[in-house]
Amino acid sequence: MTQIELKGIDYTYSPDTPYRVDALKNVSLKIEEGEFVALLGHTGSGKSTLLQVICGLIKPSAGEVLLDGEDINAKKYDAKKLRSKVGLVFQYPEYQLFEETVIKDVCFGPKNLGLSNVEAQRRALEALDMVDFPRTLYRQSPFFLSGGQKRKAAIAGILAMDPRILILDEPTAGLDPEGREMILGLMTRLNSEGIGIVLVSHSMDDVAEYAKRVLVMSEGSLVYDGGVREAFSERADALPGIPQVLSFTRSLAGIGIEPAIRADEALKNILARCRRRDIC
Ligand code: ADP
Ligand code: MG
Repeated sequence: MTQIELKGIDYTYSPDTPYRVDALKNVSLKIEEGEFVALLGHTGSGKSTLLQVICGLIKPSAGEVLLDGEDINAKKYDAKKLRSKVGLVFQYPEYQLFEETVIKDVCFGPKNLGLSNVEAQRRALEALDMVDFPRTLYRQSPFFLSGGQKRKAAIAGILAMDPRILILDEPTAGLDPEGREMILGLMTRLNSEGIGIVLVSHSMDDVAEYAKRVLVMSEGSLVYDGGVREAFSERADALPGIPQVLSFTRSLAGIGIEPAIRADEALKNILARCRRRDIC
C-alpha cells in the first residue's frame, strides 16, 4: 500500500529575493509501506530539502504531500499523527540530545506525543533495547557518550515514538566502519520488522548493500527512480560515486577478465568480510 505520495512538489528558498533557490522542481514519487529506499545525489541536489518536505517540517511552494492518502499540509490535518508515523533522524542527530540523562532524552518524543510517563518510559526502554544500547549507560549524561553511542541514543529517541517509517539524513556520516555497519545493520533489522526506511547516504557501498530501490536527485529534480544496479549504470553522472565492487569488476573487465554473472554478489561478500577485518 502507498504510504507516502508526493505530487508535483516545488520548493523555493527565499522567494522574491535575489537569493532565491529553486531547491525542488516538480518532484513526484510514491513510497510503499515497508520499503527500503536510498535517496542519492550530489551535494546541493535537494535531498535534505525533500526529506524536510516529506516530514512536514517545511511546506512545499507547490504540490501535495500525502501520508496514507491524507494531505499533511491541509489545515485540518493533525500534526501529531504525522509525528507519530514518520520519524526523521537528522544529519548528526547527536546534536539533538539535550536532556540530563539518556533515558530522559529518549522519553522526550513519546511524552511530546501526549503519552503518560509510564508509557513513555516503556517505549523508551523498548527503543533502547532495539538499538542495543548498554543498560549501564541509561542514567549517563548523553554528552559523555562515544560518537556511536550518541547516535544510537538519538535514533532510539525517534524509535520511541513508534514510527512506521524512518527517514535518515546521512546516518553514518562521520562514523568508523564498525559504527557504520552497526547503524546499517539496525536499519536492515528494523526494515525486516516492517518499518519503512528512506536513507540519504554518501556511501555508495552502503547503498549497494542495503537499499532495494534508489531515487536520484539532480539540481532539484528527480532524475531516476528504480533498481539499485541500474542506477549506477544509468545515472552515474548524478551520483557522488559508484560502489567499490562495481569499480573493481569494471577494472577486471578493462583488462579482459569478464566477471561471471553474479560475481558482483560474491565480491560484495568478500568486500564486507574484508571491511569487518579492517583490510580495506
Ligand atoms: P542536499 O541535501 O542534496 O545537499 P539541500 O536540500 O540541502 O541539498 O539543498 C538544495 C539547494 O537548496 C542547494 O542549492 C542549497 O544551497 C539550497 N539550500 C538549502 N538549504 C537552504 C536554506 N536554508 N536557505 C537557502 N538555500 C538553501
Ligand atoms: Mg543534505
